[in-house]
Amino acid sequence: MSKPSHIFSPLAEQLEPEGAFVYLDLANEARRKGLDIISFGIGQPDFQPPRESIEAVKEALEKGNTRYISPLGLQELREMIARYVSQKYGVDVKPSEVAVTVGAKAALFMAISLLTRPGDDIIVQDPAFPTYECVVRYAGGRPVFVKLREENDFRLLHEDVDKALTSTRKPRGMIINSPHNPTGSVLEKSDVEGLLELAKRKNMYVISDEIYEDYVYEGKHYSFLSDPEWRDYVVYISGFSKTWGMTGFRIGYVVANEKVIKAMDVFATNMYSCPPAPLQFAAIKALELGIDWFKPKLQDYKRRRDMAWEELSKIPGVHVVKSRGAFYLFPNVQEALQRTGLKSVDELARQLLFEKGVVLLPGTAFPLWGGDGYMRLSYVLPEEKIREGLRRFREFIVEKGGVS
Ligand code: PMP
Repeated sequence: MSKPSHIFSPLAEQLEPEGAFVYLDLANEARRKGLDIISFGIGQPDFQPPRESIEAVKEALEKGNTRYISPLGLQELREMIARYVSQKYGVDVKPSEVAVTVGAKAALFMAISLLTRPGDDIIVQDPAFPTYECVVRYAGGRPVFVKLREENDFRLLHEDVDKALTSTRKPRGMIINSPHNPTGSVLEKSDVEGLLELAKRKNMYVISDEIYEDYVYEGKHYSFLSDPEWRDYVVYISGFSKTWGMTGFRIGYVVANEKVIKAMDVFATNMYSCPPAPLQFAAIKALELGIDWFKPKLQDYKRRRDMAWEELSKIPGVHVVKSRGAFYLFPNVQEALQRTGLKSVDELARQLLFEKGVVLLPGTAFPLWGGDGYMRLSYVLPEEKIREGLRRFREFIVEKGGVS
């Protein structure tokens, strides 16, 4: 049967599937075939949202909070987010500078497409969350990739961005993500300051995806909102998916100047009317509980990070930076590929899944225009599963002849 591609607009061709979801389907297929799967694939925390948040959703449903609301979200939640973010980063955010969105993803889609004009050059980290590139192209912009290098712990250096900008005609924006998916890198204060200084010098906006802001194991997270002039340059994006274990609730948020928020109001109206009302009551409850609720989880994830890093380091031909944030490690498997004769990380990922039941995502899912040879490991599993999964990974490499 021929593909009915003629019915699609060329815009649709700019959007690509996300590797994490492709491997989620593959893992389910392998499960159906009876394999015992250990998945380091999709990036979502394995804990439940706070019990109080779940109760709040039930109560909202019972009370009939089941209808359309403002496209920018419940006013009470916008007020709480404004207070919460202001306290967290020592800034003065007003409720009118907050939009509640359908996850951080819808926030990204809106922010990138509202701010990118056809022909604009937009800085995108390489590797990065694949949505950035897709939506930049969708909006008619040109992604300009800046390679994150292992020797800098995969941090985005402003010097590298500056260099990349020399080959651009219409620099317009940067999409930055720290703590970073897929490498787990965390920008230092000086990195953030350097990037902001550059953005101001070149009159570029910064879309700062800080969804992993609470997952920092050593040191501190520096928000792009910390800059006193954030209103002129910064669109900050975060949400409830990662810190509060609410990936399926689809509640994210944006902090930006009022003009951007007003444009999002219109965009959201046309796209989805409003973020789901009952689930926003869960978010309100989460902010009432405060970040102390999350602290034991962070300690738990730190232990997992340490263990996963140690186990990965024991695998022949695998080298791995001990990343400081998010819940990802990004091992370099170039030597393991050479030793085993496997052609690519995609081949490694598929064989590892179908022969050993272990899911790691190939770095090419993120999309790594700057080179191949990495895998993403998401350590969102209990410690014994992490240990077993990495034992199987090691066994796989050894069986394929990976021991020198
Ligand atoms: N940004 C990054 C960097 C992510 O990794 C993810 C989730 N994988 C998102 C945004 C999307 O988050 P949400 O569930 O809030 O849409």
